[in-house]
Amino acid sequence: MTRKQLVFELKKYFDIRELVCEQVFKAFGEKSWQFFDQQALESLLILRTQVHKKAMTINNWKDGGPLSQRGLRCNICKICKDKTDLNELYMSAHANGAAFDYDVAGQTSEQSRQQVIQCAYMFTNRVRLEGKVTWVHFDVYDDTNSTDKVITF
Ligand SMILES: [Zn+2]
Repeated sequence: MTRKQLVFELKKYFDIRELVCEQVFKAFGEKSWQFFDQQALESLLILRTQVHKKAMTINNWKDGGPLSQRGLRCNICKICKDKTDLNELYMSAHANGAAFDYDVAGQTSEQSRQQVIQCAYMFTNRVRLEGKVTWVHFDVYDDTNSTDKVITF
């Protein structure tokens, strides 16, 4: 799938404001799609249409909710800015458009992680999950020599 087709498909399920913070959206609007890693976007479409097949909540700031740092994190997002102010390195996949934190309607984070693991074969690339958190952290960083399709860290 070309990047253009991929974004076209994703727009059926996600508003770009669910994937980026308010600052990025204000500056770039619909052009904010450009900041995402291709594998992250491909994986997000697979998660939504083949793995979970249910509504996924990433950011909800557009509806007045508190969530704004669960997709792409820009340099002035609080999590990143705090690290910079402390002169600490911050290389999270969120800062590279390669991660999403989300909840799936009507199920626990553990149930969602198990679905991802069971559907590992559906992904065209290796993917990572953060274990034991009350949301799902999903990213496409590849940092081990493991041959497992889904890496839990
Ligand atoms: Zn930001």
